[in-house]
Amino acid sequence: MGLISKIFGKDLLIGLNRTGRYGVSKPITMQYPKEKWTPYPAFRGTIRHLTKETEEGETRVRCNACGLCARACPAECIHIVGEGKGKDRVPKTFVIDFSRCLYCGLCVEACPQDALEMTSFYESAVYTREEMVFDLDKMLEDYSKWERTFKK
Ligand code: SF4
Ligand code: SF4
Repeated sequence: MGLISKIFGKDLLIGLNRTGRYGVSKPITMQYPKEKWTPYPAFRGTIRHLTKETEEGETRVRCNACGLCARACPAECIHIVGEGKGKDRVPKTFVIDFSRCLYCGLCVEACPQDALEMTSFYESAVYTREEMVFDLDKMLEDYSKWERTFKK
């Protein structure tokens, strides 16, 4: 053991060596929010509604307010009021309280109309619980637009 090792101790030298090496190496941490994380393909983020074109050329939600998603939801955070009959039935109100949502995806699985989609949107932190309650209009938004806005 050399004189310096005797004075400072072997462990201290090993520690300094490691600190020095990591001090000059490129950081592996993501510099959020300047850098954005790209979610994995199976990532389950905020849910949105999908639309369809009707025979008359009208764009409307695929949802027919059957309520299966609400019944499948273990957190009971989906609330739907439907209106109309048969193929004209649509949701009058469709609300998901994301402060209770588990992002389990059971509502998406349960939907016979493929009307719901789990997006890759994850920047949904807000200051109040009320802001986490999404109505139909909010769930029809293209969340990728929000991501682009944040990137500016
Ligand atoms: S993802 Fe799960 S918890 Fe959230 S609304 Fe759908 S079923 Fe409910
Ligand atoms: S299961 Fe699908 S079609 Fe039925 S209410 Fe839910 S989103 Fe609408």
